Amino acid sequence: MSLSKYHQKRNFGVTPEPKGSGKAAKSKSALIYVIQKHRATQLHYDLRLEWNGVLLSWAVPKGPSLDPSVKRLAMQVEDHPKEYATFEGVIPENEYGGGTVMVWDIGTWTPEQTDPQAALEKGDLKFTLHGKKLHGSFVLVRTRGFGGGGGGKSWLLIKHRDQYASDKDITLEAPRSVVSRRLLAGIAKDNGGDVARAATGDPASQAKPAAPVSATTSKSKAGSKLQKVKRKSAGA
Ligand code: MN
Repeated sequence: MSLSKYHQKRNFGVTPEPKGSGKAAKSKSALIYVIQKHRATQLHYDLRLEWNGVLLSWAVPKGPSLDPSVKRLAMQVEDHPKEYATFEGVIPENEYGGGTVMVWDIGTWTPEQTDPQAALEKGDLKFTLHGKKLHGSFVLVRTRGFGGGGGGKSWLLIKHRDQYASDKDITLEAPRSVVSRRLLAGIAKDNGGDVARAATGDPASQAKPAAPVSATTSKSKAGSKLQKVKRKSAGA
């Protein structure tokens, strides 16, 4: 495991992302799990699992699903430093990964296999998440490549059947940061980012409601009826 690719891709004089100690200390305590929602060129969710002192990382375009019948593409990307787990903010637009980053879920993970290193090399890692949003058993399975690439970077993230399996869309139901309760737009606003672009990654249902229908000055019955109808449709 090495952070050399992580360091090559970034200019730490410009990006606020952590450089990482590089000491790659193996923790004796529980292993970190984090998912960062990242409104870059394309919206995606970065799943990171601590292993051998770094965060193994997969970009999941559609984010996690709690439905065991759904397979989510997960492209493995460069290892990240452990310090990255709590990074939330804005990467400048011209930098690698430019855009807004949210800590969407955080916690710990437990390998389900006796030899997780062998499982990773084989491309079939079974693990249990102990997050604030995600819980229970998942698997990451390496595929032969999306579109015939075969570079070994393409995996599928799948929920196992257990008490936490569900058909609810967790990305829509729980869109906020687990560390700041902010939406992407709020994180962008607080860090000088592109608020409108960040907001395109927030669910439409969470967007600020349109300006209320202005109170009509008409006191006629027709006027108040119209207002009622307007109120109804505004609340839909
Ligand atoms: Mn990313």
